[in-house]
Order: sequence, then C-alpha cells, then structure tokens
Amino acid sequence: MTNAGAGALFDTVLTDALLADGSRVSIGITAGRIAAIDAVLPAGREQLSVGGSLVLPGLVDAHVHLDKSLIGDAWQPHRAGRSATFSVMERVAIEAEILGRAAPVEQRAASLVELAIAHGTTHLRSHVDIDPVTALKSLHAVLTVRERYKDAVSIQIVAFPQRGLTSCPGTLALMDAAMREGADLVGGLDPSGVDHDVDGQLDAVFGLAQRHDAGIDIHLHDPAAEGLAELDEIARRTQSAGMAGRVNVSHAYALGMVPKAAANAPAELIASLVSLISAESWSPSSSSRCSGKSAATSVAAGPASAPPGRCPAATPPVSERSEPKLVSPPLRLTSRKPGLS
Ligand SMILES: [Zn+2]
Repeated sequence: MTNAGAGALFDTVLTDALLADGSRVSIGITAGRIAAIDAVLPAGREQLSVGGSLVLPGLVDAHVHLDKSLIGDAWQPHRAGRSATFSVMERVAIEAEILGRAAPVEQRAASLVELAIAHGTTHLRSHVDIDPVTALKSLHAVLTVRERYKDAVSIQIVAFPQRGLTSCPGTLALMDAAMREGADLVGGLDPSGVDHDVDGQLDAVFGLAQRHDAGIDIHLHDPAAEGLAELDEIARRTQSAGMAGRVNVSHAYALGMVPKAAANAPAELIASLVSLISAESWSPSSSSRCSGKSAATSVAAGPASAPPGRCPAATPPVSERSEPKLVSPPLRLTSRKPGLS
C-alpha cells in the first residue's frame, strides 16, 4: 500500500483490477463512488491492490418477494398441497399460515437484503403483497427496510395483488394507496386465471400506472394460447399507452407452452415493448417459485372453482372500502394515440 497524501485526486485507488473484457485497470474512488477507471491512475490517499480479482458492476435481482422471505427465520420444511393438481391459491393459503407465525416482515426482509448485498447485489425489485388482510403493513415494513439500506442497495417495490385485483374487493383501493405511499410499480397477476377478467384487470393495472406515472410488472402464469393472448394484449396496451420499456411480464410460462411458430408470431411486437423475467420452464411436474399456478391447475380447476387461499373474507378498514375512480378509460389500440397500430 502507498499513500499519496491529502492532495490526492482520489480517496482510494484500487490497482490490478481485472475487468470482464480482460483488461487490467486501476479504479479511482472519491466520496464512496467510482470516479475513474483507467489503465493507470494517479495514486490516491489510499492505494490497494486487488491482486487481479475480477471486478463487475453490481448485480441486479429483478424478482424477489422480500415480504415472504424466511431467510434468517426458523426453518420451515416444504409443505405439499393436498390438491390433486397444483393450486396457486392453495399455495397462498399454506404460505399465509407459515408467514402468520414467522418473524416480522421487517426482520425477514432485512435478512434477505443483507444476504443480497453480501453477494454483490446492488439493485433489487421486490413484489409486496397488497390485499385486504395484509393491507399496507408489509409495504410499510419493506419501505422501512429500503430506507435503512439505501446507501448499499436500491430497491424498487411492486404493489402486488397476490389474491386477485378486480375479484378481491378492496384491493384496487389498497393498490392505489400503496402507490401513493411509496410503491414504484403496479403489479398484476394472471388476469384470466385469477381474476377471470382480462380486460378488467388490465384496465385497472394500466389505469393505476397512468394515474401514478408508474411502470408495470405482471406475474403471468396463465398457460399456452390463453397466456399468449394476454401477452399480446399487454403489449398492445403498452403501445397504446406509450409505455414501451416500462412494462415487464414475470414468468410468461405461455411462451414455453405453445409451438415455436405460434410464439414467434407476436414475439416481435412483445419484445419491442415489454421486458420479460422468466422463471423455470413450465412442465407438468414443476411448480412456481412464487405462488404461481401451473397450467394443469388452470385447466383442471376452471374459473368457477373457489380454492382455499382465495381472496380473504376480511373487511377492509372503512377508509379503504371505496374503490378509486381511475382517471384513464380502458385502453384500446384505437383510443388515445390514433397514430399507433
Ligand atoms: Zn414472484
């Protein structure tokens, strides 16, 4: 180690750092931020050789559920569902039971954030459940954690209607409140499979996004042709609303469940407008990472079933009962932006 004294340009200079392109560089750091990267830099007040270690940008974890993590809490064995086929709402019911006796959200979320930071993650996108029972409690806990670790990691929060949006009374008003209180993006979940109302849920999601000038992140496990049609509709609404680049679809199992030719047809439009964060490819024996629903369940359960874990029968507080009147009408290709097709 060498020191250049108080007049040095950089507080710290890391030397002999290996970049991903194979070059060896020095990295100048001032006030805690990288100020320069070059083959040779003037000595800093502190000079450290990293001995040829690989230096990468901070990692991005674009899909976590900080409110449901059990990291740092007591061990919880996996509990299989009792349904003959996988049911998202059964998983949600089991999950609610486990989380009901887990440590506080703030404690568990902080444990996962610390673990992520320790592994080099500097940006997180976390979905947070918004429903009539949870209300905004989990959001407030994650907001507290976000503030606590803001110097080490940035955290985007998606208001996530895990138990349904239009089919779960009170949720839309709570989602609106969540966006006012600090959530960054509007979430959605299987418009067909969960709400059985594609236009209704997407009207609500895009309406909230426009009201709050926010992006969108939709969990989409709806299968095959059904899911593909929803992807296409999401892309069309994204285009109509001028939201290209601000809408993400998580999982998008449908793309792996249809013949390649069928998936290719809308792929160009979808890819130009909507980003995708995929989980594992769906197969009859697989389940979802985050309370997703298998195609087999969707087909077997059908829209008339009422599986456990569905929208809870709790009554939301009086202040949260009235649904917001969204400022934007349902979006259609031919409305609002006639120049688009
Ligand atoms: Zn998820």
